[in-house]
Amino acid sequence: MSDLVTDYDVEADVVVLGTGAAGLTAAITAHDHGTGDVLVLEKSGMVGGTSAMSGGMLWIPLSHQQQEHGVEDSYEEVVDYLDALAPGQLDHDALAAFLDCGPEMVRFLADSTPVELRLYPGFPDYQPNVVGAKPHGSRSLDNEVFPFEELGSWATRVNPPKTGLPKRTSMVEDRFRPELSPEELADRERRDCRGQGQALIGSLLRAVLDRDIPLRLESRARRLIQQDGRVVGVVTEENGATLRIRARKGVIIATGGFEWNDKLVKAFLRGPITAPVSVPECEGDGLLMALEVGASVANMSNAWWQMSTREAAAHRSGKPNYLLVQQERTNPGSIMVNRSGRRFVNEAVNYNSLGRVLHNYDAHTSEFSNLPYWIILDDRFRSRYRFFTSRPGLPDPSWSVHADTIEQLAELIGLDGSALRETVDRFNAGVRAGHDDEFQRGDSTFDNHWGDQSFEPPFCTLGVIDQPPYYAAQMEAGVLGTCGGPRPSADAQVLDWSDRPIPGLYVCSNTMAAPTAGIYGGGGGTLGPGMTFGFIAGRHAAQQMR
Ligand SMILES: Cc1cc2nc3c(=O)[nH]c(=O)nc-3n(C[C@H](O)[C@H](O)[C@H](O)COP(=O)(O)OP(=O)(O)OC[C@H]3O[C@@H](n4cnc5c(N)ncnc54)[C@H](O)[C@@H]3O)c2cc1C
Repeated sequence: MSDLVTDYDVEADVVVLGTGAAGLTAAITAHDHGTGDVLVLEKSGMVGGTSAMSGGMLWIPLSHQQQEHGVEDSYEEVVDYLDALAPGQLDHDALAAFLDCGPEMVRFLADSTPVELRLYPGFPDYQPNVVGAKPHGSRSLDNEVFPFEELGSWATRVNPPKTGLPKRTSMVEDRFRPELSPEELADRERRDCRGQGQALIGSLLRAVLDRDIPLRLESRARRLIQQDGRVVGVVTEENGATLRIRARKGVIIATGGFEWNDKLVKAFLRGPITAPVSVPECEGDGLLMALEVGASVANMSNAWWQMSTREAAAHRSGKPNYLLVQQERTNPGSIMVNRSGRRFVNEAVNYNSLGRVLHNYDAHTSEFSNLPYWIILDDRFRSRYRFFTSRPGLPDPSWSVHADTIEQLAELIGLDGSALRETVDRFNAGVRAGHDDEFQRGDSTFDNHWGDQSFEPPFCTLGVIDQPPYYAAQMEAGVLGTCGGPRPSADAQVLDWSDRPIPGLYVCSNTMAAPTAGIYGGGGGTLGPGMTFGFIAGRHAAQQMR
């Protein structure tokens, strides 16, 4: 769409759309690489998007943290790994840019901002048995806790975690449980120290504030302004008013994915999303704006799949606040079954691969055979582990049911009782024999990593289901976000269908076609590439002529 606009309401060199981790990284990088004149627009009233609710981990192969730990890794191994998982699908230019610039991005943040990332030892890659994988970890980075007292009045402007309660610990501390002294814990409480995604966004936001980069909240970018083929600005909506913002050097789209936009989901994805776990502002605004100016797209039928379920509390927007499901399916003593009452997958496999199985199509019944699906567990599980929002001893989640027998449980959720009985019996027999012959749950370091560490593999994740009462809850086809969108060049410029960059337009975050082609390499598989392209985009845009 071509405009002849001469009067602008606001001007900056680089305009960044979105305040997730990728957007904030882009803004800081642009500021420090040749332009002090950066402006950030954010659709919601809060900073940080889904990134602030996340674990905050980054998958960055070949980082300086790896070197400091003496970890052996190579460019070739990473490419072999991703190639094996997405044969023929990788964009090797974008992938090379990710692998070259990921370590640079991490180094830049370490040298220039309060962001503190350290290696998460032992966190296995998500497909550890594939060539080039690191089954015993080393490519995932974790955040040190960050004191929110340093954000002043901005502390209340950071999107809170899903539970509303920030963790005072990092992911590494959660895992290895070092003895933190009562003084240390009290100090963390007093300084409002937060770990994980809160730490990532908190420390990035501090860097933005230190540079006096203006943040305009409740500003929804709607349309790009293009003149003579170049993107020169953006039209945004603020409190019912429409503003024209000039971007002398470039516009960087970091608006997240399109998972909350039903039309886009139906148009592009290979199956339904019934419960996304991201912020509801991820409605594909960036994708739509880029399509209007001729962007080409890739990876559109895929997403960062995730298992999710309902949560009682609503999001502040009034939209549902869906809960991500992890330990319920990886701790011992639970299984997941489909509408036939049968297991259909290794429940402990990584969420991104598991999500693909939810869209298996039954050519006979013309249905998705694994939707809906349910989690089934017994009282031993219930009394040991968290069950969604509920800890042992606390009331059950309101949307779960329980019964004294497997058959009664099946009746409550509308499944065939004898099929479910048979499924549970077969699973128990496998556990007692020490192997899941059906789906190989517990065969990989990954499966066991996410289970109960007080057992030996494979029993970190394999446990019989035989202690009544039995519990069930319906599960949903969730996503962390989508991973398809405008194709980035190696400089993060948006490419058109002739592979020419659209001048002045950049993309990063879950808005872009992921350089890993939607393969979740390891812990941090979305934030690592998303922030790296934020870094690349910020640097390139800042270095353009005005
Ligand atoms: C509980 C949980 C744990 C997770 N853990 C991890 C993890 O450890 N590692 C990992 O890699 N991934 C993790 N994820 C996934 C990860 O959080 C997301 O993939 C990532 O945060 C997406 O970042 P983003 O910048 O694309 O989007 P977001 O962080 O959602 O940011 C997009 C921002 O753009 C804004 N926006 C949207 N439209 C507009 C517009 N038109 N104008 C202006 N602004 C706009 C939004 O309001 C939002 O603030 C987790 C997710 C959850 C829910």
